[in-house]
Amino acid sequence: MRGRGPYDLLHRQRLACRIGSERRLELEWLCGWRDVFGRDGVEQSDVLQNRIQIVDHAGELFPAELQLRQAGDVSYLSFIDSRGHARQPSSDPGFGQRESPESPSTLRRSRWEHPSGLRILRPMPELPEVEVTRRRIGPLLVGRRIARVRTTPPSYFYLTHPSRVRRALEGRTVLALERLGKYLVASLDDERRLVLHLGMTGQLFSSAATSVRLLSATTRASLSPEAQQHFEPDLHTHLELQFDDGAPGVCFRDVRKFGKVLLLEKGHSDARLDRLGVDALEITGDALFTATRSRRAPIKSVLLDQRLFAGIGNIYADEALFHAGVRPRRAAGRLSRDRCQAIARALRRVLERSIETGGSSISDFVQPDGQDGHFQDERCVYARTGLPCRTCGAPIVRVVVGQRGTHYCPNCQR
Ligand SMILES: [Zn+2]
Repeated sequence: MRGRGPYDLLHRQRLACRIGSERRLELEWLCGWRDVFGRDGVEQSDVLQNRIQIVDHAGELFPAELQLRQAGDVSYLSFIDSRGHARQPSSDPGFGQRESPESPSTLRRSRWEHPSGLRILRPMPELPEVEVTRRRIGPLLVGRRIARVRTTPPSYFYLTHPSRVRRALEGRTVLALERLGKYLVASLDDERRLVLHLGMTGQLFSSAATSVRLLSATTRASLSPEAQQHFEPDLHTHLELQFDDGAPGVCFRDVRKFGKVLLLEKGHSDARLDRLGVDALEITGDALFTATRSRRAPIKSVLLDQRLFAGIGNIYADEALFHAGVRPRRAAGRLSRDRCQAIARALRRVLERSIETGGSSISDFVQPDGQDGHFQDERCVYARTGLPCRTCGAPIVRVVVGQRGTHYCPNCQR
């Protein structure tokens, strides 16, 4: 019987491990577990009182003690890392995103020892996630006339006051949805433009989406499965567009409100958009070679410079340098044209592959239809510190380059 076993927990953990102020580590923990335990199930005895290594979002590897406790028919899984932080991913059935660890329906156990002091670097949605969103949301928006707009009260989420956003959008038709770097730009039929940024936790999806992560984020997690068929806007749903043809609406939900909504008047632009470089999907070896000639900075830092190439983030820079066989600390200006070609090729391939697989399910990113992305299953170096290289078996190394956690294989990358 597997129903309450640890195998089940590992799978639920993908969604559940976000309790209290450290909610943000969930996916990398899962990866760590997978790598430790494999995918094909573990015996309870393997998990109980085990010491494992966990990789967090910043790529930090730390040993932790994993404990499984059974009380009645409920399993509790907790781990205590070497820094003394206890974390308890709950195994109760209403798994998913939780706003308040204290709410009675979610917290079955509490053993927080030192909940503060851990610096967490969370990756933001990167180009592939934004591009996946554009491709899925585009058809829902383009050509449709916006009938009603619902917003939440004014906050730092809105660069344009929400009442102005509502007034400007109602009655307008969306002509196109483009991506500029990590921004989504909707062109309206009166030549205004609506700019959206997913920030760190933004979710843009169809109101017809079905997703455990979305649904359980609401109090409806306790409802029957039939009652959970569709997402209904909650207080974190800051923008909801409804159309006059009755098609599913589009929701922009963001728990942390690092996302942004900005309305640009006809003929206006914004420094955020103006300073973006060449889109990373259009990067060429020649352009990279030319752009790097005078640069002494490590190639990794140059790739992350959004003024040169827009949309490359930490995960994809590490992965692309691995596939190109180039060490992240190599001085950019000294790379040969051939190596620049290899990096450009690898970047496009990694980004395109990630788009194909629906992006990485980092933090709160879900595809617009509510499913998880799968690219994290294919990562070779990012957040794999200490794990064997998929090509040569050497342990993946983590260093810091330009203040960013950077991962590479010392054997495959030169
Ligand atoms: Zn290797």
